[in-house]
Amino acid sequence: MKKLIAGNWKTNGSVDDARALVADIINKLEPDEAVLESCDILVCPPFLHIPAVRHATHGYVAVQFGAQDCSAYESGAYTGDVSAAMLKDSSCSYVILGHSERRQYHGETNAVVQQKAERALESDLIPIICVGETEEEREQGKAEEVVIAQLQHSLPPLNDFHQIVIAYEPVWAIGTGKTASAEDARHMHTLIRGELAKHTKNAEKVRILYGGSMKPDNAAELLATENVDGGLIGGASLKADQFLAIARAA
Ligand code: PEP
Repeated sequence: MKKLIAGNWKTNGSVDDARALVADIINKLEPDEAVLESCDILVCPPFLHIPAVRHATHGYVAVQFGAQDCSAYESGAYTGDVSAAMLKDSSCSYVILGHSERRQYHGETNAVVQQKAERALESDLIPIICVGETEEEREQGKAEEVVIAQLQHSLPPLNDFHQIVIAYEPVWAIGTGKTASAEDARHMHTLIRGELAKHTKNAEKVRILYGGSMKPDNAAELLATENVDGGLIGGASLKADQFLAIARAA
């Protein structure tokens, strides 16, 4: 399966920074397009930077873009929300949902993530549904139970045509410089694949990304691990060189 290398830009930078970063990625990718044979490239800027990224990628389909969240509601009186349909209208292809930062700082529950994923699928967006255990849960031997429960309650009902992506992101690895070992990643990703098989006939086709301090120097090992179908990258996605080095490692 072709890997997906996805950048989560979080709440960083200005419109000019977003424009410059995506231009840098495109300029460095164009002479080195062999990398696109083994991976798809996705960037997820903040909502307000999406139009600039859309403009900068125009005509260059190799760099796809998406958002970091969407509303749980279709449209109407939901002040401050950005709907999945609006993201589609802005040419987004993907939307990250249930990132641990949204679960932690915005109180998002599995039920909310599930609702958002349903809205995303209705608008023909591919949801990237994030799951992952905290350090405390791992120390208590609960990592598997927590991740399975998150999946069971965050996954939307799926038909044979729906496309989804799962990101396994151990919370203790996000932005900390610590990563799961290749063996732990293999174990958790295989477990996730097994759970997905209970929700869709297409479990083998669902990309399961690893996220958590993925960098150029650890990407090759993680991306070569069984059932790791790409990466969701935070910090290292803000530098074109690092982000593309991870893509090359795929
Ligand atoms: C993330 O927030 O999705 C992430 C993986 O961040 P980082 O790569 O910085 O750990």
